[in-house]
Amino acid sequence: MSTIRIDGLHKSFGKLEVLRGIDLVVDPGQVVCVIGPSGSGKSTLLRCVNLLEEPDSGSIRVAGVEVTDPDCDIDAVRRGIGMVFQQFNLFGHLTVRENVTIAQRRVLKRSRAEADRIATVNLDRVGLADKAGSYPAQLSGGQQQRVAIARALAMDPQLMLFDEPTSALDPELVGEVLAVMRGLAAEGMTMLVVTHEMAFAREVASRVVFMDGGAIVEEGPPATVFGSPREERTREFLHRVL
Ligand code: ADP
Ligand code: MG
Repeated sequence: MSTIRIDGLHKSFGKLEVLRGIDLVVDPGQVVCVIGPSGSGKSTLLRCVNLLEEPDSGSIRVAGVEVTDPDCDIDAVRRGIGMVFQQFNLFGHLTVRENVTIAQRRVLKRSRAEADRIATVNLDRVGLADKAGSYPAQLSGGQQQRVAIARALAMDPQLMLFDEPTSALDPELVGEVLAVMRGLAAEGMTMLVVTHEMAFAREVASRVVFMDGGAIVEEGPPATVFGSPREERTREFLHRVL
């Protein structure tokens, strides 16, 4: 069963048609990287997967569950999906440890001891076990984004969505976040990643999806999409960003 299966997804904001019939499959253990110009609908696509945006038509299945079905328990589906945004959205008044335990305790009803144990495991995974007692403002942007990743991982997601997770970072901090994501990919985490980091996509992606104007123009293995793109629009885009 595919982790994500999207068929004929359409989404408009008023008169603006932002997604014009998207079909996309992400299978377990795959890393699918979505690239494309600003405004092409990448974030909207990601946000439709956990219904942060409501699709107008089409179907989205997450691990076989039709999230667009009105009877779907969307909270249960969301619990299985970790999401990491460009902005880290950590709670500034909570320590790193508390940021990583709060949803575990409130949503998964884990005990404090269990949540703390799992926080330690996941902070270790992102290389920040020594920062558990710090506050977000005491950390660099790269460290804050790694805390946000640990917080998502602590919920035991079956799928991770990343929306330009390194775009808000100073260039010298991008690498440490990409390294964590590479590690997750190597562990077999299923990931849908919107990114401008072409070297990351080329190296890590199982498949690269190029979007433009609300549609998937081209998709395939990174060597093909980057090395010998089929579509003129893909070539133009890559020429601009590479
Ligand atoms: P990308 O992530 O590829 O830059 P987005 O999915 O964020 O693209 O946006 C696609 C288009 O939809 C843009 O023109 C954007 O301005 C518009 N858009 C996104 N979200 C909203 C919204 N909530 N209301 C109105 N327009 C939106
Ligand atoms: Mg976006």
